[in-house]
Amino acid sequence: MATVLQFDEINALAQEIYNRTEFLPKERRKKEITDEIEDLLVIAYVFGEDRVLEAVRSVPNFQDRILPEEWENPDLTKEEVAEGLKPDAQSLYDTVYKQIAGKDFAQRIADRIDEETLDLPALQRIAETEYHRCEETGAYDTAKKTEKKTSLWGFKVWNTMLDERVRATHEYLEADEVGLDEHFVTFDGDMARYPGDFSDPENNIGCRCSLSYTFR
Ligand SMILES: [Zn+2]
Repeated sequence: MATVLQFDEINALAQEIYNRTEFLPKERRKKEITDEIEDLLVIAYVFGEDRVLEAVRSVPNFQDRILPEEWENPDLTKEEVAEGLKPDAQSLYDTVYKQIAGKDFAQRIADRIDEETLDLPALQRIAETEYHRCEETGAYDTAKKTEKKTSLWGFKVWNTMLDERVRATHEYLEADEVGLDEHFVTFDGDMARYPGDFSDPENNIGCRCSLSYTFR
């Protein structure tokens, strides 16, 4: 499965960054790692956008479903409509630098370098978790924009990796389908609009679930 490969690639990249920066002075190491992870998170967000745009493109003549009042010039090709459904740069930036418990990813990495607790598994876990969060947010933001600018309605299905590492609270959601604005609610009472969006951080760390979107 493509998703498995992806996580392997993220782990390999994190290992490469870790090895290359291990003996650098702290401040330089923070900067190098932050720059590399930032690039990775931008890629993740755009990859999420692309996943949803692919779902939009699978609707026949989706360009005819635009709401004319939402577009400056409603006479558009399929390509132009797909381009217009991408979230703006601010949404991407806000996602990459989202603060969790008062800290963004760069501060989380910097803290661990200062405390000398940044070992390779820790960096890999940070890279995986943040990548996953950005990809799923990019997908969700694109789906939201699609609902705003077209007459299409979005639906989402929760997919786990179907292996023994899937936690029970996420396994509970396997194959659930809800409308775009709805939350997935699991048995511990926590809820999320998409993977990585639970209020309990323990439900987000290390999550590998993903959503598949459809538009009708
Ligand atoms: Zn999960």
